[in-house]
Amino acid sequence: MIYPEVRNYVAGRFVSTNTDTLEVVSPLDGALLSTMPLSGMNELDEAVKAAQAAFPAWSAMPLKERVQIFYRYKTLLEQNLEELTELVHRENGKTMGEARAEVEKSIELTEFACSLPQLVAGEILEVSAGVECRLEKKPLGVVASIAPFNFPNMVPHWTIPNALALGNCMILKPSEKVPISASRIAELLTEAGLPAGVFNVVNGGQEIVEAICDHPDIQAVSFVGSTKVAKIVYRRATNNLKRCVALGGAKNHLIVLPDANVALTAAGVAASMSGCAGQRCMAGSAMVGVGPVDPIIAKIVEEAKKIIPGQNLGSVISRESKERIEKYISEAEAAGAKVLVDGRNAVVQGKENGYYVGPTIIDFVTPDMAIAKEEVFGPVLAIIRAKTLDDALQIENTSNYGNAAAVFTQSGGLARYVMENASAGMIGVNVGVPVPREPFSFGGWNESKFGTCDITGKSSIEFWTQMKKTTTKWNPEAGINWMS
Ligand code: NAD
Repeated sequence: MIYPEVRNYVAGRFVSTNTDTLEVVSPLDGALLSTMPLSGMNELDEAVKAAQAAFPAWSAMPLKERVQIFYRYKTLLEQNLEELTELVHRENGKTMGEARAEVEKSIELTEFACSLPQLVAGEILEVSAGVECRLEKKPLGVVASIAPFNFPNMVPHWTIPNALALGNCMILKPSEKVPISASRIAELLTEAGLPAGVFNVVNGGQEIVEAICDHPDIQAVSFVGSTKVAKIVYRRATNNLKRCVALGGAKNHLIVLPDANVALTAAGVAASMSGCAGQRCMAGSAMVGVGPVDPIIAKIVEEAKKIIPGQNLGSVISRESKERIEKYISEAEAAGAKVLVDGRNAVVQGKENGYYVGPTIIDFVTPDMAIAKEEVFGPVLAIIRAKTLDDALQIENTSNYGNAAAVFTQSGGLARYVMENASAGMIGVNVGVPVPREPFSFGGWNESKFGTCDITGKSSIEFWTQMKKTTTKWNPEAGINWMS
């Protein structure tokens, strides 16, 4: 085993459990990285108790003092950047460059939390003579964050710095496929000075997620993962009267118009479909080409051929993923689509036990094919041809999902038309991965997100806090009227 066994992190220390374990295997080469415990209700209960015990002192600490810990934590992330990068690379399989960018994004998310005192100052108004109303944003208590496999370091940071800086105590449930990064996050938070019990990690799978949704002392649940599980979690958590935001899967459309800049578009589309081996909820997995776009497609093919598994393309997460992705490609081909670049059966020399799919481009996909509608989650671009921009938007609008959509054009008017009419939460204009950077918040529409708030940025402040309104009057000379 390359790393020590993964253990739960409760009340500021790693704890052993008496549960079954799972092996954690690197998708890069099949190497055994570690083992992790499959926790149940007892382990969760222990962590919730630790969080509850930490909450009174933590929430009473002034916000300006709490964020000092995150300034120190940000420095620790920077100092440990290479080690954290290597860890993400090994457990998730993405390239070192992608893993480094992921940890750098975690640093930016932490930086945003450090700015929270500037953003959450309350409001105060004299509402009638001598009477003041003041509004404060108060923490909720013990909250939970459930994460997927595709960003072992960044997705936990979507929630940890903001939720904790705002005064909550947290239970993190990492993906059982990539649980090691979370252990390092816990250690670094403690090193930065976070009091014991404010942040806890409970490892496991479905059972622990269900226990989180049911636990009476957890006030709010954030979830990031597939739409299938997002629906289960959102229903179950809200049914138990918890606040919940659940981000799901995606099918992001890149609408390419014939006037688009060829080089910019080809580079943007190729990077969007293949980055992190297509395992991003922001990946452009369906391109809708409007009218005569063949020169642009030729350039995208040229770009895709420069993407080499094991070099500038990482692995996919598992054998099942590889098989699922290749099945989508084969079914589309059998149904009449034309494979322009074929990434099936990719093998990386010396890493024969890794799971690789090469970049794949399939033209003449029709909107009814599974590859056009479903989330493939691999480095695959399905090209659908449309006659008009309205036809393209119709295809985009009929998707169940609505995370991101992008348009490539040099016309401001047509770009604006797509901005207005695409049914997605995050829109790109000549940008293939339109992730809004802080302070803008991250979140999709339709079946890509359930719940009212977004998960990061300013919108997350509303999710992680509740408003307290206090009305005060001290001076009798202010008199009495019907409002006071
Ligand atoms: P997943 O839904 O399989 O797992 C997510 C979490 O849910 C994990 O912690 C897992 O242990 C748990 N889980 C799995 N099955 C469960 C069940 N039946 N009941 C309760 N809990 C269960 O997702 P994944 O494969 O880890 O991640 C990939 C998915 O996440 C993709 O669909 C991707 O689009 C999505 N994703 C979305 C966003 C977004 O912002 N919308 C971001 C990242 C990933």
